[in-house]
Amino acid sequence: MTSDNPDSLLFDCRQCGDCCRGYGGTYVSEEDIRRIAAYLGEDPARFQERYCQMSGRRPVLAQAANGYCVFWDKLCTIHPVKPRMCRRWPFIDAVLVDIQNWKSMGASCPGIRTDLPDDVVRQKITPLITPEDTDE
Ligand code: SF4
Ligand code: SF4
Repeated sequence: MTSDNPDSLLFDCRQCGDCCRGYGGTYVSEEDIRRIAAYLGEDPARFQERYCQMSGRRPVLAQAANGYCVFWDKLCTIHPVKPRMCRRWPFIDAVLVDIQNWKSMGASCPGIRTDLPDDVVRQKITPLITPEDTDE
């Protein structure tokens, strides 16, 4: 879930939490781990042990028994330091790779506006997307 919204015409988060549910979605970088661990007053290694699972060779945030991210409790409980993936959504590189991804993402995220022409979405979204390796 995001609320750092640079364009409310394209996207308006409904706070439904659907993007915070389901296994394996939220990768955390070393920087994410450092930031969240510091916010929680945890040692980074201890944080990863307690709150992360491995997806292949990369850590993801763990799920609680209810299927939601361990940090979801009707809202994101680590909002000020949530992972980069959560902060960027839905303005992610995949939309520029294939504009159809915008509509695919909209099928599972009710905050994404899917009734705009592709060229309008592309034009508006391009300046909002920072390359994944430069926005830390
Ligand atoms: S699924 Fe979309 S609308 Fe719902 S909380 Fe996540 S970003 Fe917001
Ligand atoms: S860190 Fe927050 S925004 Fe990201 S999946 Fe977990 S609860 Fe949702």
